[in-house]
Amino acid sequence: MKFEPSLGDSSEKGESLKDQLQKQVLEATLKTLQEKVSTLVCPTHGQSPRLQASEGEGPGKQKLSFQCCCDELRKIMEEKLKS
Ligand SMILES: [Zn+2]
Repeated sequence: MKFEPSLGDSSEKGESLKDQLQKQVLEATLKTLQEKVSTLVCPTHGQSPRLQASEGEGPGKQKLSFQCCCDELRKIMEEKLKS
């Protein structure tokens, strides 16, 4: 087993700062996207897309995904996000 003390505190601090930054970026992105899609309503079901952030496989690997009631709403949403 190899032990590398040089990968101690400094890299952990670097990681946490990076994580903080990524979290802020993620939150800003979430907010922007949520504002964009919140005005959208499915003509069939009357529902809005719901934005979800889920943890990925490591720090900074969060995934953003939309939950739509149907494909039609998803299409409308994708058009909106393109513009
Ligand atoms: Zn729908």
